[in-house]
Amino acid sequence: MRKPVIAGNWKMFKTRVETTAFFQAILPQVRDVAHCDMVVAPPFTALETAVAMAEGSRIGISAQNVHWEEQGPFTGEVSVKLLRDVGCTYAIIGHSERRQYFAETDETVEKRTRAAIAGGLKAIVCVGEVLSERDGGQAVDVVRRQVRNGLGRLTMNDLSHIIVAYEPVWAIGTGRTATPEIAAEMHAAIRKTFAEIYNEAAADALRILYGGSVKPDNIAALMNKEDIDGALVGGASLDPASFAAIIKYK
Ligand code: PEP
Repeated sequence: MRKPVIAGNWKMFKTRVETTAFFQAILPQVRDVAHCDMVVAPPFTALETAVAMAEGSRIGISAQNVHWEEQGPFTGEVSVKLLRDVGCTYAIIGHSERRQYFAETDETVEKRTRAAIAGGLKAIVCVGEVLSERDGGQAVDVVRRQVRNGLGRLTMNDLSHIIVAYEPVWAIGTGRTATPEIAAEMHAAIRKTFAEIYNEAAADALRILYGGSVKPDNIAALMNKEDIDGALVGGASLDPASFAAIIKYK
């Protein structure tokens, strides 16, 4: 039985004051939630505030990226060690915005993922095709390649520390959600790829989240699909009421 995960990616939004206000609003609404793991990924500057606010709750705090070196002359990067120091327990890796605008590749995704796991973080690793790839009938091939190249050389033990997020790039921030059927088909293809590389049991245990314009009114239909184990939520995670409604999709 895979425990669902509902994770919010705040991207480059929210000051520390806004972060405090978000947690003050959402904590009473999700206090009794036990059916899913909850994660919030604020920008680096608000991580420490988020960790302090979430203390004693069931919400885990995630970074939106992590570097593979422990420390060193890597201006602008943040290591696992530094994230652990502020109390982070997760890191999002390979988000499409990182791939699109910051030259993230399957190779760097692999390095970041290995480092995150080795350092004790859970990695939420994103894969997904762009619109031209979907329209060209290559969506499955693209995500299979991203999985094989980015996540195909982990150890079996590593696999238990990753969560995969399938995020079709054409659905991110566009208001255009993949239908539950499209998402389910892609999730099944991703799980099959892991079964081929590792084994059925490991693939069965892996949690695969859907991301792309998830909102309170479409989460239930997505979560009804067998292979969809939760959601990575962008825009709708910024508002405590809508994120709480998504968390409480049941
Ligand atoms: C995301 O950024 O991971 C995302 C899914 O964004 P949105 O929900 O806004 O489409």
